[in-house]
Formats: sequence, structure tokens, C-alpha cells
Amino acid sequence: MSQLEVVQIPCLTDNYGYLVHDSESKFTASIDSPALDPIEDALRQNDWALTHIFNTHHHYDHTGANLELKKRWKCKIIGSEKDSDRIPGLDEGVNDQEVFNFGNHEVKVFDVSGHTIGHISFYFPREEKLFCGDALFALGCGRIFEGTPEQMWESLQKLERLPEDTKVYCAHEYTLANANFAVTVEPQNKVLLDRVQEIKNLRNEGKPTIPSTIGLEKSTNPFLRPMSKDIQANLNMLGAELVDVFAETRKRKDSF
Ligand code: ZN
Ligand code: FE
Repeated sequence: MSQLEVVQIPCLTDNYGYLVHDSESKFTASIDSPALDPIEDALRQNDWALTHIFNTHHHYDHTGANLELKKRWKCKIIGSEKDSDRIPGLDEGVNDQEVFNFGNHEVKVFDVSGHTIGHISFYFPREEKLFCGDALFALGCGRIFEGTPEQMWESLQKLERLPEDTKVYCAHEYTLANANFAVTVEPQNKVLLDRVQEIKNLRNEGKPTIPSTIGLEKSTNPFLRPMSKDIQANLNMLGAELVDVFAETRKRKDSF
């Protein structure tokens, strides 16, 4: 069975780019293209040739190096069909629930609009790896710039239904700031408190907190936990609709 390797690339201030490499076909995809130099360095270090870019959404810190990389590598750029006019160099538009092949690996697309309209995530079902851009973060979720809270909540539910062991590769190292907010919403959550300590230790050593897993996010991420009675009580929303609890949590984070 061919192996799928993942290389994490710190870019810009707090972005993560990723290279995903299939050992058999030698295909290599860059998940987003935050910055040219660190991606080129990672390709060189591994002696890989870039064949694809998978864009999660159109924001500049996710597509900034698209055109330069395409010029150098003639790679194929895949992104949301809804973002055809906003993703530089897009070759192939994909849609929600679409499955395509990357070498011997299946990739499933989820439309996770909310942060932007046309934000997608790339999921490798056999490897249980999720590249979710700015939709879901470790202990957080993307700011809602273009969609509605309803849309964002629906998007996050698509991701939380994935197997618990799924590795979550998000696009920013925002975890410590997210943690500081999360404990204000659910200070009673023991698993969360333990995780926050672990996050502080990792960051003190300059280490990444990513990837996390769907299971860990479900038990600690306040944006996936509007059903928590403690969160509802802390927000004075006991018994409220889950989407409303989610929306209130998102609103509080915006001004935290
Ligand atoms: Zn973004
Ligand atoms: Fe971003």
C-alpha cells in the first residue's frame, strides 16, 4: 500500500502550509500556498516535485504563492468551483461531497462555507486525515466573514461526524489564543483544562500544537460543544437551540 506522507510548513506569522506526498505515484500536493520560499525549501529537502495545489479558500494567506508555484512546477490547482473567479490559477473546481483520486488515495471534498463562501476541506478517508483550512481550528473555528452562523454550524457538523481518530490539520497556529477563550466558556471541562496545560507546554518549547484529532476537538472545542449543559449555563442559554449557542460563542470570541 502506498504511503501518504505529510510535511508541516510554518509560513508567514502563524500559518501552516502542508505538503502531502504519495510514495507510489510521487504526487505531491501543497495544501494552500501561503508563501513561496518555505514551500520550495520543503520540496527541496524532501526531493519532491510539486504536482498539485489544493486550495481551501481564496484568502491571500492561502493562495498567495499559487501563481509562482504554478509557473515553476506546472502543477494543477484544485479549489472550490464557487471560488473560480477568486482563486488564482484555478484549474479544477470541485464541490461538496465530491471524491477524486490523488495517486492511489481518495480525497473527499466538504464544502465548509462560513469563514468564506466556497471554503472547502480536503479529507483522505483511508488515512483519516483532514485538511480544513480556516474552517475548524484546534479549540477554535474561523471567523465568519461571508457566511452566517447557521452555515458555519452546518459546516462544522460535517467535520465533527468524521471518525474520532481523524487527524485535523488546520491552517493556523491559533491554539493558545483559542485556549484562553475556551476556558472562559467551559471552565468546568477537565479534558479542556488538561489540554490547555499541554498546549502551553508545547508553545513554551516552540512546538506546534497541530495536528489535533476530531475526537479531541469534540471533547474540548467550545465551537463543537453547544450541546454542553455547562456551556449553555455559562452563556445563560440553557435549553437554547444549538445553532444559537454556537452563534453566541462565536460572537463572544469575536470581541474576546
Ligand atoms: Zn482565511
Ligand atoms: Fe487564514
